[in-house]
Amino acid sequence: MAALQLVWYKRDLRIADHAPLAGAMAAGPVVAVYVHEPEQQYATDRDVRHERVLRDALDELKASWQARGGHFIELHGVLPAVFDALHRVLPFAAIWAHEETWNALSYARDRRVRAWAKHAGVTMHELPSNGVVRRLASRDGWAETWQRRMRSRLVPAPDRIASPDAATTTAAVTALPEDMRTSTGAHVVPPWSDWQRGGEARGHDMLLSFLSARGQDYRRAMSSPNEAPEACSRISVALAFGSLSVRHAYQAARQRARELRDDTRNRRDGDAAQWSQSLVSFASRLHWHCHFIQKLEDEPRLETTHYAPVFDGLRPAEPDMDHLRAWRDGQTGYPLVDACMRSLRVTGWLTFRMRAMVMSFASYHLWLDWRHTGPVLARWFTDYEPGIHWTQCQMQSGTTGINTIRIYNPYKQAEEHDAAGAFVRRWVPELSALSDADLVRPEHTPLIMQQMTGCVIGRDYPLPIVHHETAYAFARDRMHAIKQAAQRSGSAQQVYDRHGSRRTPLEARTR
Ligand SMILES: Cc1cc2nc3c(=O)[nH]c(=O)nc-3n(C[C@H](O)[C@H](O)[C@H](O)COP(=O)(O)OP(=O)(O)OC[C@H]3O[C@@H](n4cnc5c(N)ncnc54)[C@H](O)[C@@H]3O)c2cc1C
Repeated sequence: MAALQLVWYKRDLRIADHAPLAGAMAAGPVVAVYVHEPEQQYATDRDVRHERVLRDALDELKASWQARGGHFIELHGVLPAVFDALHRVLPFAAIWAHEETWNALSYARDRRVRAWAKHAGVTMHELPSNGVVRRLASRDGWAETWQRRMRSRLVPAPDRIASPDAATTTAAVTALPEDMRTSTGAHVVPPWSDWQRGGEARGHDMLLSFLSARGQDYRRAMSSPNEAPEACSRISVALAFGSLSVRHAYQAARQRARELRDDTRNRRDGDAAQWSQSLVSFASRLHWHCHFIQKLEDEPRLETTHYAPVFDGLRPAEPDMDHLRAWRDGQTGYPLVDACMRSLRVTGWLTFRMRAMVMSFASYHLWLDWRHTGPVLARWFTDYEPGIHWTQCQMQSGTTGINTIRIYNPYKQAEEHDAAGAFVRRWVPELSALSDADLVRPEHTPLIMQQMTGCVIGRDYPLPIVHHETAYAFARDRMHAIKQAAQRSGSAQQVYDRHGSRRTPLEARTR
């Protein structure tokens, strides 16, 4: 009989389009394992909202395996110790997994597991999970590789999964130490919340409803905090936990574009043009998904260090705690910023433009280092994905050296994206009786109106924590100087050579 194959699930919690599962099944009987690692559960980028999604995804995946006759084991502990213990009671010949680009902890963990496997005589098969290329020598040609991977055939979900007989697996698991079999209760997952839920079926439903109806106006509506929750795909949670593959999303979008092209009725009424623009924007964001993660794959240190040393010391190593707290708690006196932070805490999601604005505000107006603000957002984004997150945090803080410095004006953002103030009124209810115009800069509201509406600025809602024009001018001058230093020192060119998308030359980006 063929030797046992272990399918090691990490951030790829699905049964469809899962190449390691298919590879393992071709090699012999399989058992799946997911290991809850305390170092991840207690990490500074982890929150109970992530546990909630994980629980959903694992429950569904276990049921999918069981329905197909396969065994799925959930264990707890440090790796590779858990694998070592499992291997003693249930010997396996190989581990099958996806290549994963997650945080520094998982990077170190993967190295430990590889070393253990080599020592234990267990073969490691790690297969690409998206468009991210391991040991990439150069960014030249990366986009073509991405296209090739995205267009390759999806791996179908198996109808049946062959595992050893149930008694063997059960006896092996029972023989493991108690603490590996049971949860230490690191997080008590609340039964309900406003956070997005997880699992393969939900991920596919989200994608389908976006491509069939919600996505039509995506390109126009994606930046509005009012419209984006419905108009954006909302598949980021499913992608971050691997309940949906990027390739699946990309191919479904292409299929939808083909259907629209073939549908002459749609072509006449103009819907098709709107759909087509939205689908192009969506597909390019799936490309960005991997483009950003590739940066962290190539330089894992970007999670905690600047792209280039020239940016070291730009912002204080010790944060101004009053500023940090005010930003975190939605008490800056900038209504749209405050509304975003308060809504994020409750819902776990913000659209891209608002994420960029709150990060920009923290980095430029409050002059806080992204290493103090990024972890707050990482914990609160249900879709936290380190490769996108840390590189975006650096980009919106101006520390890449190769991107245009964009200092968002929160007043202008409010006028453009929340003109009627619906979003601010919902999340900053103390301001709700002010007029639409006064909602943008409430401190300019005549005192008599403040008193009549029961919201005196400085008493019921904070005065602006910093003066916009002064903070803007300070940040602009500092960033201009440091960017020139980055160019003079050659570090901008080095960053571009390593991480630039190759679509826009460095000179055009930094003008
Ligand atoms: C400071 C900051 C931090 C961010 N942190 C994260 C994060 O931790 N996890 C995360 O998934 N996204 C992050 N983003 C990118 C983006 O805001 C989210 O991907 C998007 O809002 C998720 O919602 P959606 O699935 O409806 O996206 P849609 O607009 O429907 O896009 C579809 C998919 O494309 C990808 N995508 C969209 N925009 C971007 C982008 N700018 N860069 C890279 N990929 C993109 C995502 O995978 C997304 O799910 C961050 C952006 C900023 C400015």
